[in-house]
Amino acid sequence: LAKHFKEALPIIETIEANGYQAFFVGGAVRDFILGLSISDIDIATSATPEVMQRIFDKVIPVGIEHGTVIVRHAHQSYEVTTFRSDGNYSDHRHPDQVTFISDLKEDLSRRDFTMNAIAMDRFGVLHDPFNGQNDIKNKQIQTVGNPAARFLEDPLRMMRALRFVSQLDFSIENTTYQAIHHQIPLIETLAVERLAIELEKMFAGSQYMQALALSTQVDLWRHLPVFQDLPSIGHVVKKMSCPLHHLFELSAFISCTYQDITIKEMAKKWKLSNHSLNKAKVLIDLARLFNQQGLTTWLVYQLPSDLYKSFVRLIRNLTNQEITVDQLSVLANQLPLKSRKEMQVNGEDIVAMYPNRSKGAWLGTYLNEVEYAIVQRDVENDYQQIKEWLTKWHPPEIE
Ligand code: ATP
Ligand code: MG
Repeated sequence: LAKHFKEALPIIETIEANGYQAFFVGGAVRDFILGLSISDIDIATSATPEVMQRIFDKVIPVGIEHGTVIVRHAHQSYEVTTFRSDGNYSDHRHPDQVTFISDLKEDLSRRDFTMNAIAMDRFGVLHDPFNGQNDIKNKQIQTVGNPAARFLEDPLRMMRALRFVSQLDFSIENTTYQAIHHQIPLIETLAVERLAIELEKMFAGSQYMQALALSTQVDLWRHLPVFQDLPSIGHVVKKMSCPLHHLFELSAFISCTYQDITIKEMAKKWKLSNHSLNKAKVLIDLARLFNQQGLTTWLVYQLPSDLYKSFVRLIRNLTNQEITVDQLSVLANQLPLKSRKEMQVNGEDIVAMYPNRSKGAWLGTYLNEVEYAIVQRDVENDYQQIKEWLTKWHPPEIE
């Protein structure tokens, strides 16, 4: 067993010691077979959430009605989901009712693709009733059961297929592809938050070009907020030269590429948080500044370090210029000022330099000018020198 699975083993052992079954399932097993690094580990069990809460100390009931709890173990979180069958999805969002069951195979049969329907027990033995290993070997995405029926049940699976193309460099098996082609309009019935998660992963995958081309072939864009208003997605795709990792990054990119799509509109339609909207706004403003003046100290001063990677990717896509995170860090370390708080004059100091003036908008303007001048090294961050510099440019009125 790989290290990550070994760390999670005590959970499976505890469940089994209480007389229930438990297996590793989902993306972790798939990625393990593929030899990829494993992200989060999901566990499926015959134990109900009530039983799980009884046999473990630290259980977070994140989705009891769907059978999911999070178990904390050795500072890690593990999603443990009770075997279930999903019933109908009449609202295309959630199964109407889930039924807890005791049979692993039936649980695997409700999963989306054969590659995601493989279970691994604590000895590392695979349980693979739908030949997922074979599809993994052939790098092929294929639904468990009839694709048309499975996509009707939950249309999100079509988006998931496209994002797995991007992440895994797989192709979509022909009948599965045909079903996507016919049923893609159904994704309009989905909650935009669910679509957003898959869209984000699609643009972030290494094979995004392939996934975007397939999405165009099946006419995905016509059914997605914002993208349906673009004159052509081909234009966007052609410009892209590296993956974009977050929806706020993608939104910034779209809004820089199409001036008539405002970031506010895009954020609203995709239900971005205010936090993400603000990050997108900073990226857009600074990309514009970069276009006009290149990589200035003033630009780096305004760019928070947690946005460095996003900014590098955005600039690469917008201009094909290769700036690097290192370059940004070096410039940031040399800044004469890290933030406005470090300025050696404040508003009161400046008011005192102009005793004959009443308060007004001029004060904010002067503060901005001083800040800019310090950052651009026109003046040193020193009270006396700032005073001389400011009063030279803006002589105080004499009574
Ligand atoms: P990732 O590596 O991105 O986490 P994943 O395959 O683990 O990929 P998750 O969204 O974490 O994807 O879902 C875990 C598992 O749950 C999947 O592997 C699949 O078996 C099942 N699953 C997830 N979403 C669906 C769905 N919409 N329909 C059917 N099964 C699903
Ligand atoms: Mg997962």
